[in-house]
Amino acid sequence: MLYLEVGVDGMRYWIISKTDEISNDVSRRVKELAMGVLDEKNPEVVFSIGGDGTVLDVIERYQSMINQILIVSIHTGNLGFYTEFLPNELDEMFKLLKEEKSYVNYYLLEYEVNDIKGYALNEITMSGIGRMLKAEVYIDHTYLMHTRGNGICVSTPTGSTAYNKALGGAILDNKLKAIQLNLIAPFETAGNKVIYPVVLSDAHEFVIKPDEKHIDLSFDRRFISLENVSSIKVRLSQVCVKFLKNEKHDFAHRIHKTFIARN
Ligand code: NAP
Ligand code: MN
Repeated sequence: MLYLEVGVDGMRYWIISKTDEISNDVSRRVKELAMGVLDEKNPEVVFSIGGDGTVLDVIERYQSMINQILIVSIHTGNLGFYTEFLPNELDEMFKLLKEEKSYVNYYLLEYEVNDIKGYALNEITMSGIGRMLKAEVYIDHTYLMHTRGNGICVSTPTGSTAYNKALGGAILDNKLKAIQLNLIAPFETAGNKVIYPVVLSDAHEFVIKPDEKHIDLSFDRRFISLENVSSIKVRLSQVCVKFLKNEKHDFAHRIHKTFIARN
């Protein structure tokens, strides 16, 4: 698919930005350099200025047309996992945008809760309302286990460094086509054993059937409470999000910078 049919100078673009001083300044410079047309409804390119959380906002806003846009993400804090460029790399960034060949795709996960379908970039979580979540977990049609605890988190490879990591899950290479199920504070007893984390390829799905049908759900930044949930299906989607890629910051570099390096 050609994303920039009219070229970078006439491109339709939109900006989703944090509102701190640095982000506002970057936003102003992007408008100067972009030379395109601002188009909130039907952009070809969306600039995300802020952090990984800002990219989650872009995904939410453009969920219905997510495979038609290119995200260009600029980080105004520390290097993030979805943020490819730093404020001092804008010239380079626009050069890459013109060349139209430096992209990276991140797969979304797709969920089905009763009849509601949607996508998430990091993860879906489910929990009980003021009490334990008790649920059966299946891989496709095969029963795996019954779990009790605070909840369940199913994440994408790119989401593996977010909530999943805090749960002791593995960091997955973002090129893997996989999803990871993790348990949030599981209450394990001799009579109720559980296993986690569990990673599946995109050929399989997790099916979660809560004992009580009223549960809380989160999809990245969004939260909902649903009353009649009989099953939640989660799998890696064929739909992916396309980002302009900065070759300088590879996956290993990001992990080191984010979690290990002091500056
Ligand atoms: P937030 O309260 O602003 O904090 C979320 C933090 O996670 C931010 O520092 C964010 O980075 C970072 N983050 C987001 N996606 C990431 C990724 N893929 N890899 C590494 N770090 C990532 O919340 P928010 O901005 O609305 O983000 C929602 C996310 O919070 C959820 O998707 C979930 O992953 C995470 N979360 C984590 C926990 C936990 O660790 N115990 C609990 C609930 C939710 P930026 O500062 O660059 O935005
Ligand atoms: Mn945030």
